[in-house]
Amino acid sequence: MHDSHQALAILPSVNEVVDAVIAQFAAPRALVALRAREIIASYRDLLQRGTRIDETRHELAVRIVAETRDSLGPGLRRVINATGVVLHTGLGRAPLADEAIEALVEAARFCNVQADLEEGARSLREAHVESLLRHIAGCEAATIVNNNAAATLLTLAALAKGREVIVSRGELVEIGGSYRIPEVMAQSGAVLVEVGCTNRTHLRDYEAAITGQTAAIMKVHTSNYAIQGFTSSVPLEELAPLAKAREALLIHDMGSGSLVDLAPHGLDGEPTAASSIQRGADVVTFSGDKLVGGPQAGIAIGSRRLIEQLRAHPLARAVRVDKLVLASMEATLRLLLDPDEAVSRVPALRMITASAGELAGRAKRLARALRSRCGSGVTLSRGVSRAGSGAFPVLELPTTLLEIAPGPAGATEAARRLRQGTPSVFVRIANDRVVVDVRTVFPEEEADLIAALCAVMTPSRDG
Ligand SMILES: *Cc1c(COP(=O)(O)O)cnc(C)c1O
Repeated sequence: MHDSHQALAILPSVNEVVDAVIAQFAAPRALVALRAREIIASYRDLLQRGTRIDETRHELAVRIVAETRDSLGPGLRRVINATGVVLHTGLGRAPLADEAIEALVEAARFCNVQADLEEGARSLREAHVESLLRHIAGCEAATIVNNNAAATLLTLAALAKGREVIVSRGELVEIGGSYRIPEVMAQSGAVLVEVGCTNRTHLRDYEAAITGQTAAIMKVHTSNYAIQGFTSSVPLEELAPLAKAREALLIHDMGSGSLVDLAPHGLDGEPTAASSIQRGADVVTFSGDKLVGGPQAGIAIGSRRLIEQLRAHPLARAVRVDKLVLASMEATLRLLLDPDEAVSRVPALRMITASAGELAGRAKRLARALRSRCGSGVTLSRGVSRAGSGAFPVLELPTTLLEIAPGPAGATEAARRLRQGTPSVFVRIANDRVVVDVRTVFPEEEADLIAALCAVMTPSRDG
């Protein structure tokens, strides 16, 4: 106790640090004080846990001042995604289209989010988004909420509370830790009835489980895994007549929920939301920031009667989206009206459908630029990119990777420095090399990427 008290005397005071930072750097005093307090507290923690700091009081103060100065930038920063994972949850999933970015900037001050321009009267917030979704997905009605977890929760709470919902044991998914079908079901007040086995579920399993207490059959997209081997599951079009005959609803949690058919681009396995409606689902829920390529949101589409029930539920207000999401989603949906335009203008779709030939060309040009400007330690190799976020879970998208020999500090340290740069760069690491996949790099980011990579590469021997 006495020792640690003595050890703490080495720490500078908040005021000392703030004064030193402000003398070098124009920044609001309150912000500098906040950061200085946090950084001093982290050193106090270390000392209290018995860590020794072999520095003089002056040296430590200099270090804390430097760390405080470096921490003054915004916490959220622009990132160049060189990982090749398109819908990277850590990096904000779908990057927005230029049109969507313009729309959200335009709406940021005042906008007519809930006022109609003709009368100035109150209007439905999501009317513009709904009209586009009706056209694109061929549904009667649509509503938009905070994310797909909320869309599923709201659907179950509004349509199945206190009653039973039947789900195959092969579809009881967990997505990213906090979204688990049994737990979402419990929160909604619906009662989960599991049917079938992990690898096989048959129509007769659903048939046998339907009772007077059944509100719905729910199908869940197995987003982040695939069951292979001796398997079977029942497709929507076979469940639809059963649900109808027994007066149960058919709910489909699609997860990634593409609005554009990507099969013509050689990408099979992600049915569109329109096809779920056609095959007989009553309500389909999906994310806005996966294959839709828009902002974080959850979308529920279906019949007018059921969507009205979702809108009228008390939870709807708790999970509603703001004007920035409505504006950027509307702009994204406008691009999705035309599938050809969508794959060239919506970045997530453009990146996922980029051809192996195009990526090889870009990787070669980037490697040439790196070799001529910064060093010889660059090689090209074939590899795979991933759609990410559970879209096309088993699909390997062929790509060309740049493998870069890091400086003497090694690849892990090089990747750390790249992440901390401005702009921040996220790469992959393999065999102690820094690996860059151009699929997820915007062409206009290449100059910044080259500069960042040069700074961490083994210096050139041959110029
Ligand atoms: C991604 C996913 C979710 C969760 O969606 P969020 O928009 O992240 O809330 C739910 N269900 C499935 C099947 C998913 O793939």
